[in-house]
Amino acid sequence: MNKKSNRVFIIDDEPAILRTLKMQLQRLGCLVETANSGIEAIQKLKRNSFDLVITDIKMPGISGEQVLECAKSSYESTIPVVGISGTPWLLSHSDFDAVLPKPFTKKDLELVLSKVLSQGASGSWAL
Ligand SMILES: [Mg+2]
Repeated sequence: MNKKSNRVFIIDDEPAILRTLKMQLQRLGCLVETANSGIEAIQKLKRNSFDLVITDIKMPGISGEQVLECAKSSYESTIPVVGISGTPWLLSHSDFDAVLPKPFTKKDLELVLSKVLSQGASGSWAL
């Protein structure tokens, strides 16, 4: 990863996952913002600028797919968005720039980060 701190926005309705992911990303030198719902995510996306969004797909109310749509239609449509889910079929036909099936390891996460942050939103790939 490059030297400057990447601003990463993570969204998940499960507090434990949000906590773990935040810790892992901070250890990798990222500046982390979190949201525990789709609605909070959309509000924060409108007010802040991020280098990367990592969102859970299945959430009550506004889903990760809707967060993706919002991120791609906002200020910076080139922002890479990574989808995470414990339900693999939700990841198989998606427009996310990368996907990570839960549970994933720290190594999986690092791999996705380096790929997505170096490629931007140009290429789509999965683990
Ligand atoms: Mg969820």
